[in-house]
Amino acid sequence: MRLRILSGLGVLAAAAILTGCDSEPETAKLPDTKAQAAAKLKAGKAAKVKAAAAVRANELGQIPVLMWHRIVPKPQTTDDRSPAQFRADLERLVREDYVPITAAELVAGKIDIPAGKHPVVLTFDDSSPSQLTLNEMGEVQKDTAVAILREVAAKHPGWKPKATFYVTRDMFGKTVREEQAQALLWLKDNGFEIGNHTRDHLNLRGRSKQEVEEQIGTIGKTISSLAYLNPTTIALPYGNQPTKKEWALKGKQYHHQGAFLAGYTPAPAPFSKSYDAAGIPRIKAMEKKGDCAQFCSEAWLDWLKKNPDMRYTSDGDVSTVAYPKYKAPYLRKSFTTWSLPY
Ligand SMILES: [Zn+2]
Repeated sequence: MRLRILSGLGVLAAAAILTGCDSEPETAKLPDTKAQAAAKLKAGKAAKVKAAAAVRANELGQIPVLMWHRIVPKPQTTDDRSPAQFRADLERLVREDYVPITAAELVAGKIDIPAGKHPVVLTFDDSSPSQLTLNEMGEVQKDTAVAILREVAAKHPGWKPKATFYVTRDMFGKTVREEQAQALLWLKDNGFEIGNHTRDHLNLRGRSKQEVEEQIGTIGKTISSLAYLNPTTIALPYGNQPTKKEWALKGKQYHHQGAFLAGYTPAPAPFSKSYDAAGIPRIKAMEKKGDCAQFCSEAWLDWLKKNPDMRYTSDGDVSTVAYPKYKAPYLRKSFTTWSLPY
């Protein structure tokens, strides 16, 4: 023991001598004067502005938050998508330079994606087994939403399989508490977000504050007891807000940073004055047909492609909000210190 301590000290002493020999002359280490520091800061900012302009960054632009329900071989309602359709939905996003972030990251303004890319939020409602089914080894069943997400991500390095699952008491078809815990813990351990979708999936419109708080609070409590986390976002059943929209955000047992609706437009950036945390719009994943001719994913992705000035484009720096100067009046005041107009 004593020997080990001694030899440890010996290494330390040798290291001190080595750094002593290698160190630069003291003069090189003099701190910058105030003027030098300011000049450095200015040059750094100028470089950031140039980089933001080069990729036409627009961090006050719109973000598609896409919504899926079941992923099943034979779609029965317009909410269902087949595995092939879902795969095609994701491949299109990859092709058009969208990179997934979670709903929690959106509402926190933590949009950490490469320069020139566009954020997209992938959300799954109702916690059905078609989204996540695991075998006894914790391996994901083929053709579930999670399996397809991971397949597509594996094919495209840099494209992370991030998504948000809005959970009700259905809990991916599991009724045994331990099995429910397994599903939620698996999602958490694999970087997926677990959100609140109320306990019984009731329409909250017109209900009393007490009923609203009970529907949201009880499932929140279940999630936290099973997976040791408190959801930070909620998706409202049928996209309907309670009498006071703030009830979805704050109750005795919960505090959400964002409440998501069910339709029908891309979402404003969290840095924009158009953003409302209590009602963030989503877009159903579906081709341009019937009710979806204008307001579902194919239509909106076509529109964002045709109108790139409307779309959120990242400057690659999570600590700034970069945008063309022209858009300045739309910046939310609380983000002034992050702002990087060009
Ligand atoms: Zn739902």
